[in-house]
This record gives sequence, structure tokens and C-alpha cells, in this order.
Amino acid sequence: MRKNVIAGNWKMNKLLGEAVQFVEDTKDKVASKEQVESVVCAPFPFLPSLVEKAKGTDLEVAAQNMHFEDKGAFTGEVSPAMLADIGVTYVVLGHSERREMFAETDETVNKKAHAAFQHNLTPIVCVGETLEQRESHQTMNIVENQVNAALEGLTEEQVKQTIIAYEPIWAIGTGKTATSEEANEVCTHIRNVVSNSVSQAAGEALRIQYGGSVKPTNVDELLAQSDIDGALVGGASLEADSFLQLVEAGK
Ligand code: 13P
Repeated sequence: MRKNVIAGNWKMNKLLGEAVQFVEDTKDKVASKEQVESVVCAPFPFLPSLVEKAKGTDLEVAAQNMHFEDKGAFTGEVSPAMLADIGVTYVVLGHSERREMFAETDETVNKKAHAAFQHNLTPIVCVGETLEQRESHQTMNIVENQVNAALEGLTEEQVKQTIIAYEPIWAIGTGKTATSEEANEVCTHIRNVVSNSVSQAAGEALRIQYGGSVKPTNVDELLAQSDIDGALVGGASLEADSFLQLVEAGK
């Protein structure tokens, strides 16, 4: 049985006080990590305070991106070593907003996945197609290529620990969710791709989240699908109550 992972991706939202208040309001209310993994993906400046506040609770703190090198002349970047050093445990990689606006590629996502494992960070690797690609029936191909590229060279054990977030770009922040069947169809394909290119065991163990306009009202139906093991949530993760409802659904 795969455990669900509910991750709130705040994107570039909140100020420090609001972020800390959110953790204060949720850290003792999230379900136990034996039942569901609860993660908040916060902007860099908040991470040390949030890790400190969430220490000893079932709430985990993630970064939304990182560089793949440990240190060096990379002005404005944050390294995996820095994240691990302050107690961050998960990192979102290759979000479509980073691919579209900040030149993230399949190759950099792969380097970052390797770097994450070097520092015991669990990667949440985002994949997904544009509306145009969906309408021209390229979804399966696009997603398959993104998954294979991201996982290239990882060990079977590392692949088992990876979380893939399937986020159709046309469903992000639009209020337009893929139907749960549409979402599951792609998640099943992702699992088959991993089973074929890595191993059956890796395909069965890897968690696959759905992301794109997930809310308390549609999360149950999505999580009831055979190959959906959680959600990566933007807008509906910004309020503590709504985040807690999503976590409850993930139990
Ligand atoms: P929304 O839930 O706001 O559609 O965002 C999805 C997303 O991009 C999460 O990473």
C-alpha cells in the first residue's frame, strides 16, 4: 500500500508572519505521518523558521526549487546542501512554472534529482502537458519523456522514494481540473513507464500525485483513483483550514 502525500505549494505567496502562523495553526492538527505525509512547500526565506516551528511534528517542510551544485559561483541560487543543512526534507523539482518561466529543462531536473538524493531530500518531480499538447494527443508521450529524463541514472531504490507530481498545465490555477479518470489515466501510464524502464517494484512503490485545481471538494474523488497517491496543491493550500481538509482526505 502506498501512502498518500499531500503537499501544499504556496508558490510566491505569504509573508514570513503569515507563513509561521500557518505552521502554528496546522502542525499539531495534521494526521500522523504513518497515515499520510503532509508537506508545505515554502519560499526560501521562510524555510529556517518553518523547519524550526514544525520540528517534532508530522508536518514536513519543502523547498520549491534548488540548484544541483553544492556551492559555487551561482549568484541567486540555493544549494541542496544548504537546504539539508537547515532541516528541509523535500524539494519540488521541475514545476511547470519553472520550466516555462525560468528555463528549467529535463536535463537540469535530472541533475537536481540526483543532487536531492545525495542530501537525503525527497524530490517531488513535476511533469505535465500543455493544453495544446493535450489537444494534439501528445500527453502520454510528453509525460513519458519527462519522467524518463527526470529519473535517468537514479538507482532503483531512489526511484522508489521519488514522488512524481502529474500536473497538466492547463489545469493549474485555472479552476479547471482534469476529471479524476483523465488524471488517473496519465498516472497509470507514468507507473507503467517506470515499471518498464526501471522495475516493476519501482513502478509499484513510486508515489504519483495529481496537481491542478485540487480543492477539498474534488480531492476525495481524485485520491480514490487507483494510481493517484496524493496531491500537489497551489491555491487551496494557502489557508490552514483548507490544507487540513486535504490532509484529512489523504488519510
Ligand atoms: P493550483 O492548485 O492553484 O491549481 O496549483 C497547482 C500547482 O501548480 C501546484 O504545484
